[in-house]
This record gives sequence, C-alpha cells and structure tokens, in this order.
Amino acid sequence: MTNQTDAKPTPLPGLAGAAAGAPPDVATVRAWADALALAHFGLRFPGTVRWAPRLRYRAGDYTPATRVIRVSLPYYLRYGYEETMRILLHELCHWWLFRQGVHHREDSPVFQRLLTAHGAPAHGLPLQRSGGRRLRLYVCPCCGMRYHYRRRVNYACGRCCRRWSGGRFDPRFRLVPVPGP
Ligand SMILES: [Zn+2]
Ligand SMILES: [Zn+2]
Repeated sequence: MTNQTDAKPTPLPGLAGAAAGAPPDVATVRAWADALALAHFGLRFPGTVRWAPRLRYRAGDYTPATRVIRVSLPYYLRYGYEETMRILLHELCHWWLFRQGVHHREDSPVFQRLLTAHGAPAHGLPLQRSGGRRLRLYVCPCCGMRYHYRRRVNYACGRCCRRWSGGRFDPRFRLVPVPGP
C-alpha cells in the first residue's frame, strides 16, 4: 500500500529553491509563468520572463510589443513566492487580452473583469522605494559598544560617559562611524 496520507499539492518547479531563500533563476520563474498560463489560459506563455533586479515602484509589468514580463526581484525577496505568483498572473492577464487584440489599460473594465475572474490582484503590495533609510553603525572606541542611527550623529558612548565622566559628554568616547557595505 502506498502512503497517501499526505495530500500535499505537488510543488511547482523551483519552489524548493525559492523556499531556501535564494532567488530562483530565470528558468524557474519562466516555469512558474508557464504553469500559471497553462492552468488559467490553457497555453504556455510564449514570451520572455525576467527578473527586474531594481524595480521597486511596481511589482511587475508586461510589454506587449516584445511580450516581456518583468517581475520585481525586490518584490519577490520581500513578499515571497505566493505574492510573486499573483503578480505573474496579473501580467499574464495583460498578455491574454493583448493576445486577443484587446487593447486596454490598468483601469480598463475589461481588464479588471479578467483579473477578478482569475483571482489576480489589481495591484501589487506596496514596496518601499529604498527599504527605508539605511542604519548607520557606530562603535565606541573605548568599550566597543555598537550603536545604530538613521542619520549622521556626533555622540559619545553613553555607557562610557556615565562610567568614566559622570555622565557628561567626553570626546574620548566619541562614537566612530563604521563604513557601511
Ligand atoms: Zn498591470
Ligand atoms: Zn563605550
């Protein structure tokens, strides 16, 4: 008797790699698009799928003239596989309409209806432009205590100032910026 206790759905190609945290390669995201296109429209996606490593103001896009779907890599890294699949489905809905010669925009009713019919989102989730301001790392030259600030500061180590200088600012303990990556 075979073990049939687990009725887990078969993972799509490349999902194991995605779960491991490494960005899936282009062939993998391409396979995702094909699987979605087959499931929803009965055809493989005939165009090109690629990651957009720096696309942040939207989650993906589709260019009908070249049949290129771009998917934001920062979006994938932030929201993961499920959300990225939803974006792929959204872009495939664009493809499907253009394929039938139906010109449309994001807010065209015919497009909105198709999104609804296939359970695709109208928009991606918000992706901050730069992931917020980067933290600057400072270190105390005396005790090695590490401090993080969003802006440039001219502080001294509070711990050392309290311990050695009665809590007053002591330039000997002025924090030293550590260059970022
Ligand atoms: Zn769109
Ligand atoms: Zn210190």
